[in-house]
Amino acid sequence: MDELDAPLSTRLPPRDAALLESELEVTTVRDLLWHLPRRYVERGQLSSLRDLQPGESVTVVAEVASVSAPRTMRNRRGALLQATVGDGRDVVALTFFAAHPGQLNRHVAELVVGRRVLVSGKVEVFNGALQLARPDYQPLGTGADAAELADRPTPLYPATGKAPSWKIAKAVRTVLDTTTEIADVLPADVVRREGLLSPLAALRAVHDPQVKADIAAGQRRMRYEEAFVLQTALAQRRASVAGERAVPRPPRPGGLLAAFDARLPFELTDGQRAVGEEIAADLAREHPMQRLLQGDVGSGKTLVALRAMLAVVDAGGQAALLAPTEVLAAQHLRSITAVLGDLAVGGLLAGDRPATRVVLLTGSMGAAARREALLAAAGGEAGIVVGTHALLQEHVQFAELGLVVVDEQHRFGVEQRDALRGKASAVPHLLVMTATPIPRTVAMTVFGDLETSVLRDMPPGRAPVTTVAVPLDKPAWVDRVWQRVAEEAALGRQTYVVCARIDAGDAAGVHEDDGGGDEPPPEPAGGKEKRRPAAAVSEVVETVRAHPATAGLRTEVLHGRLAPAEKDDVMRRFAAGEVDVLVATTVVEVGVDVPNASAMVVVDADRFGISQLHQLRGRIGRGGLPGTCLLLTEVGPGSPAGQRIQALVDTTDGFELARTDLEQRREGDVLGAAQSGRRSSLRLLGVLADADVIAKARRDATHLVADDPHLAGHTALAAAVADRVTGETERFLERA
Ligand code: ADP
Ligand code: MG
Repeated sequence: MDELDAPLSTRLPPRDAALLESELEVTTVRDLLWHLPRRYVERGQLSSLRDLQPGESVTVVAEVASVSAPRTMRNRRGALLQATVGDGRDVVALTFFAAHPGQLNRHVAELVVGRRVLVSGKVEVFNGALQLARPDYQPLGTGADAAELADRPTPLYPATGKAPSWKIAKAVRTVLDTTTEIADVLPADVVRREGLLSPLAALRAVHDPQVKADIAAGQRRMRYEEAFVLQTALAQRRASVAGERAVPRPPRPGGLLAAFDARLPFELTDGQRAVGEEIAADLAREHPMQRLLQGDVGSGKTLVALRAMLAVVDAGGQAALLAPTEVLAAQHLRSITAVLGDLAVGGLLAGDRPATRVVLLTGSMGAAARREALLAAAGGEAGIVVGTHALLQEHVQFAELGLVVVDEQHRFGVEQRDALRGKASAVPHLLVMTATPIPRTVAMTVFGDLETSVLRDMPPGRAPVTTVAVPLDKPAWVDRVWQRVAEEAALGRQTYVVCARIDAGDAAGVHEDDGGGDEPPPEPAGGKEKRRPAAAVSEVVETVRAHPATAGLRTEVLHGRLAPAEKDDVMRRFAAGEVDVLVATTVVEVGVDVPNASAMVVVDADRFGISQLHQLRGRIGRGGLPGTCLLLTEVGPGSPAGQRIQALVDTTDGFELARTDLEQRREGDVLGAAQSGRRSSLRLLGVLADADVIAKARRDATHLVADDPHLAGHTALAAAVADRVTGETERFLERA
């Protein structure tokens, strides 16, 4: 065992160790050393007190402005001392209590007017003035000492009331002073090439920097280390998958795929052709394909997937297509059957014509239909089985599962991939598709064990979609929205109206039980004050039915709480043009394909994330009809939510939107480790800012793993992978 794995009590007085453990959940020496400063303050610079928000726990650098003498309280027992600290413009009050005035004398000695102190406490308003409740402070040196320390950065740690930042700093320094060596996880040649500090020097630099430049140098090494450890884990995963055997499914001339291609009513785009070739090459290998297909909404991913599935059927295998919702699975079945025409008749019935059977298998099917579908999958007549992710959990057997396609999902993790392995005698090939464009480095981090293909071009004939933000507090604008919906209907076109909730009683921002929202509910605008709850499907449908402009239209609702048969029926009638307005939740977010739908109205658009809105907008403009996307919101353009909406108004480029999205969110959220207090193995690494580091680390890690797959000669690295990646990161990779 590494000395770093020793309990904190081996290096600190038991009381301090216990305090840190209960307050910060740090138990080992390593935990504490990796409890990194959140930011740094310069002693020479006073913090601006004007920015303090009531309710926040803060640590600030301020100057003592006044101190009272300790006095006994008149109405209660005990004594108090009052002081104020300021930044030269504003002041904030501190009150200290004790049983006897004498116990407050040490504050009189330390809080000398004009002296700089690091003060922490919870911001409150008392008698109309700001105060720090339960204050704690540390004088920032005096005399010659102060001058010497003036430009030395002071680390501020994620702290609590009982464990203020400087207590943590002191503990960290004690531990650092008694640590003589830390085994390096990075190969020596990488350290040399990158000019990185040693692990111990880096920790000293970030915890106890002498000058500002130390912080950057220390963080640089730690970032590289993080990236490298993560990429090593991913490289190992890639290598282990590459070592697994799959049944090769080489193309068969004169088969289903050839027949399908010959009757396609349009040309493949260049991207579809190129990606098709990549996939065909993967499928022909003896090792399982692990490919992520990215393409913006409407770029034609489904067609690419269908061609891959047909190739596998040609080679004697079966393919499973997993959709995130039952609505989407049913739609896939309909559109695949339609596009295959008589290529989709039953196996034996087809005679010598190439054909295969396509079946739907979902959790909510009737028992008889379900039994038949299960038999078709297990018996092998079904070449293509369409279902939801539930297919993986259930006891569905395949005769010869050769390919699994996961549609519109980037949450298909390691665990699900493992579940697949149990479904077939050999490991099936895997194609994961996502319409949420992912910047390259995120792909390398979150999907680091998949190869990536990108569809950059759109099929021809896409009509432009115009996006407008509509302020909800302008009734005339909102009226105009419903008139627009009526105008579309008069032209024989259809409209989606999307809401954030099903019923007025539901919590706002809930995700559909079977809907594939892919981000946390957006933050409430404006912080603490309570917002009106988001409009619900049940309310908005009444509005549409009652509004003079839309009252005569055929309006239906769609959401996850309808019975599956009912959902299917509504969706089918909407697709058939028998419904003018569909008031829905985000069940229509991904993949729903009704070319005649030309308008998308999102009510309370500020409650949705960028990629959700982009997905929703992708539902229209599909049939050569110009689309109109109306985003109803009550937030102004200044707030983050308002900026999200503006981004949608400004561009329809999914890659650009994905970037804006990432920039707006905190990195932790991007990587799925949202809770800020939780320890995460990804502390410093920024997926956007550290693109170069991630790319280099990936190359280094791939080389190393190729030479030493089990890290037998790299014990420190192996331990770091086990400690940091397995567990936290593994879980996040699965969620991702
Ligand atoms: P995605 O799943 O990537 O969002 P889809 O696969 O649903 O996109 O394709 C969107 C629409 O474009 C579908 O109606 C599909 O039939 C059509 N399409 C796909 N490829 C082409 C192509 N090469 N040329 C013309 N239309 C295409
Ligand atoms: Mg699709």
